[in-house]
Formats: sequence, structure tokens, C-alpha cells
Amino acid sequence: MSIDSRRWQREGIFTAGRSGTWQWRDPYTGKPSATISYRGLGDAVVLQYSIGDKQMHQHIELTHTGCNFGGARTWFACPNCCRRVAKLFMRSGAGFICRHCGRLRYASQSTDAVGRTWLKQYKAEAKLDKYHVRPKGMHHATRAKLLTVIHACEEQRDRALCAFMTARFPNGWPW
Ligand SMILES: [Zn+2]
Repeated sequence: MSIDSRRWQREGIFTAGRSGTWQWRDPYTGKPSATISYRGLGDAVVLQYSIGDKQMHQHIELTHTGCNFGGARTWFACPNCCRRVAKLFMRSGAGFICRHCGRLRYASQSTDAVGRTWLKQYKAEAKLDKYHVRPKGMHHATRAKLLTVIHACEEQRDRALCAFMTARFPNGWPW
């Protein structure tokens, strides 16, 4: 889901005092898939929508560049990095942000989470012998507990990968 400043400028959405809704349609079924409300302020636009139960309210500043033949082009200022961009992309938890911020966000989130699971797993594995064998003197229950931790870490990484791929390819994975 993205919004395009060129299209919104053409449609007059940024005009102060204008408000309405913007809708996305499923490209296959043609049915509405998402709707947001907007309010034009001239030099900014306010977006209101919900993600799950969460009400989102975003104030997005606009910047203008002049054209040689008169008139001006309107751009979004990314609410996260202030970069001047034509398109903002919807990222759950962050709202509409630029492509660059969207990428950074997912990359860092997934590496942090995945990194933590590896650390946790190494610690558990260090207590066991090679191939997760129970060292002499260790209780069976202790080994079982460590194995549970290791498997949970592996599962968590699978889930992180799934979440990453779904965020990156919302319309289906490329395989
Ligand atoms: Zn940004």
C-alpha cells in the first residue's frame, strides 16, 4: 500500500480544507482492500486510519519544488527521516514512511531479533556436548529443557523470516 504525491496533487487532495477517503482495491478482485481518511492542510496532509485495533493519525508535511513552466510539484516529507519523496509506503507499526526507512526498519528489526535467538541458542548449546548430547552428570530433564530452548530459537527465526518475507512481498512470496 502506497500513496503518491503526484497523484494526490493532481486530484487536489492537498488543498486546504479538503477531506475525504482514499481507497485501495485488490488488483485481482477489484474489491476495496483498505481505506484511509485524509484532510488537506495546504502545506501538510493529515491521514487517519486503523491498523487492526490501533488508530493511526499521521501528520505529513509537504514540500514543493518549482517547475520551469510555472506551477509547483508537491512532495511528501517522510515523517520518519524528512527526505523529500514522491511515494510513502504503509508499514504496519510505523504507518506511512519512505521506501528507504521501510527497508532499514525491517532489516534492523529482523537482524536484532534473529541475533538474539542465535545468542540464546549458543548459550544453551554450550552447556551440551557436541550434537546436543547430554554431558556426564547432567540430568535428563536439564538436557530436555535446553533442547526446548534451542528448538524455540529455531522456530522464532523461522517466524522472523516469514514475517520479513511477508512484509517485503505483501502480495505473495516470489516462489
Ligand atoms: Zn524516510
